[in-house]
Amino acid sequence: MKNTAIVLAAGSGKRMNSDIKKQYMMLAGKPVLYHSLKAMEESDVITDVVVVTSEEDKDYVLTDIVNKHKFTKVRDIVTGGKERYHSVMNGLDKITEKGGADYVFIHDGARPLITPDIISRLYDDVRVNETAIAAVKSKDTVKIASPSDIVVSTPNRSLVWIIQTPQVFSYSLIKEAYDVLKEEECGLPCSGINVTDDAMVVETFSGHKVKLTEASYENIKITTPEDLDIAELIIKRRQ
Ligand code: C5P
Repeated sequence: MKNTAIVLAAGSGKRMNSDIKKQYMMLAGKPVLYHSLKAMEESDVITDVVVVTSEEDKDYVLTDIVNKHKFTKVRDIVTGGKERYHSVMNGLDKITEKGGADYVFIHDGARPLITPDIISRLYDDVRVNETAIAAVKSKDTVKIASPSDIVVSTPNRSLVWIIQTPQVFSYSLIKEAYDVLKEEECGLPCSGINVTDDAMVVETFSGHKVKLTEASYENIKITTPEDLDIAELIIKRRQ
């Protein structure tokens, strides 16, 4: 089995209000991206890793994270794109160039608290459903609003899930869906589709059903400064 993780670290992280991009900020003494890659390294399921980063950060990632910590599964470091989905496309192209894979695990490098256990549970589900995306049930009531902040509707909370990564797909399914996205990309602004995750690409461009796999409330994404403090506490507790 060849199970390749695409670990995304090509974002600019503007919401962090810092000169250092969030994926490279220090968390428990190591860069955020280190923790994400460590989980991939320790997983029995992942066989290969492609890291996607900006051109200017490639050397840092190779020298100070991958080589320094002897991450043996990292096969390639590729350049990302303008939007997150462009970065995923570049990762997928690299996998294709290397002869494909069985399953592809797409993970935000900015989610350092992912565990090998969650990765294994996603793997169990993807082998049955061809898709499996990490998610947790919403603890809060969610409202859909208009652009002028007026409530439009309130979905039934028991059916609302908060979506995380990894998002896992059979290689053939995710490749096909992204190929259609590539062809239709010019029409995205008019259709009002804002591609924010990979499941959306599968839902929109393949019609295949997407399976939710219950993950963990600890699997947070580092987005704003307080997320780093929360992540520090969770790591301390785990130790
Ligand atoms: O911006 P957001 O928090 O949604 O980013 C999620 C992940 O995608 C981050 O790990 C970020 O580095 C990555 N990303 C990327 N290429 C982009 C935008 C985001 O690899 N163009």
